Amino acid sequence: MICYKAVLNTTFLIVFLFCGLVAFGQEVSITSSIHKGIQQRTDDIFDSLVKIRRDFHMNPEVSEQEKRTAQKIKEYLLSIGLEVETNVGGNGVVGILKGAKEGKKIAWRADIDAMPSEIPDVVDFKSKTEGVRHICGHDVHATIALGIANVLASQKEQLEGTVYFIFQPSEENYKGAKAMIKDGLFDLIKPDEIYGAHIAPLPATMISTKPEWLFADYKMIEVVYMNSTDNDAMIEYTKTLLKSFQNVKSGSEFFDPQSLLSPTIGLANPNTIFKDYTTVSDNFSVKEIDDLISIKTYVGSSVFNELDKISPLVQQKIKSSKYKTKLINVSYSGDRANLMNDKKLTNEVMNSISKLYGQQNVIRLYGEMPDGRGDDFAYFQERVPGVYFFLGGSNFEKGIISMPHAPNFAIDENCIKTGVNYFSSMIVERLYD
Ligand SMILES: [Zn+2]
Ligand SMILES: [Zn+2]
Repeated sequence: MICYKAVLNTTFLIVFLFCGLVAFGQEVSITSSIHKGIQQRTDDIFDSLVKIRRDFHMNPEVSEQEKRTAQKIKEYLLSIGLEVETNVGGNGVVGILKGAKEGKKIAWRADIDAMPSEIPDVVDFKSKTEGVRHICGHDVHATIALGIANVLASQKEQLEGTVYFIFQPSEENYKGAKAMIKDGLFDLIKPDEIYGAHIAPLPATMISTKPEWLFADYKMIEVVYMNSTDNDAMIEYTKTLLKSFQNVKSGSEFFDPQSLLSPTIGLANPNTIFKDYTTVSDNFSVKEIDDLISIKTYVGSSVFNELDKISPLVQQKIKSSKYKTKLINVSYSGDRANLMNDKKLTNEVMNSISKLYGQQNVIRLYGEMPDGRGDDFAYFQERVPGVYFFLGGSNFEKGIISMPHAPNFAIDENCIKTGVNYFSSMIVERLYD
């Protein structure tokens, strides 16, 4: 409508364009001054953030028991002037930062739980809780979220809009996000967009992501039969049938974890072998229970809805085989939501972070991780469009490799600076979008 009028009236057009330029120019200078403020503040608080991370690391708490961690988060958020809600879906904490003016509402989510692990810690600031360790990096995730809250709170007078910080418990058991939602998270806050990140074995200056799936769809398939006179043959037949659905490129390289980061075939190459694939695990579990036989294994696929097709096909094949009268059921279990990055937002945020922090640090992925990993952030994305990132935590020269759940998992703490800078700036760009 405005454009139409402007075309009709040249004077109006000039005025309109001029006003537009001024408005645009002002916005750019506001955000660039905020980004400078973010970077300065991140440097100022970096040492204190490292201390917080080490405190979380030394006091890890497993899923559903994150009481101390939640208490520390609450105290910190209150100390920097945020509104705080606690006990959301268990030990969940929500911080609310309101800018000086009304505007968009953006949420940042961090998971906060640790996991059981008997393997000795590789750092000096070791876990003080026997059998529990932060080997998935959630100590760093929680710290980065506190850092973002701090630097954005320091820019509060310049901010238009609201930023929500969701500190989610129980990610490792995939229960926390669902519990927070069930407990009314989205009555409490109404984000327009939601973002989050997970430590990954990239260098500590880099982040990566892609539109839509980051992880393959992954489920356990179970075939149940009545006992038969030739159980062994029936089991072999079923294993062979299930394995026939496997479809991966380039043989064994696919199953070598190193390949994921390979520049030629890994996730970041457009010709990656980690797309358009289906995997079927060789680790079959076969159990005889009374007069039933259960055969289970894991199937994964990077192809949307592929697993929905496989289960009926398995059933159909068995029904046309000599075991048709023995078949009881083919079913999936362990069903869980898969991350689904919003296409438009992913492209926009990758662009804005690239412009501010360098294209070389924002890696676009083309394939999906195959080994059954995931994150219950997926349940938030079912409600609110958003993007999930991998945040590099490695420093290969120093021998620090941040592969989550690996026994030697370690972090280059400079990734805290990367996370706070990049994602604080990204949130500001979203507020002003
Ligand atoms: Zn984990
Ligand atoms: Zn994790």
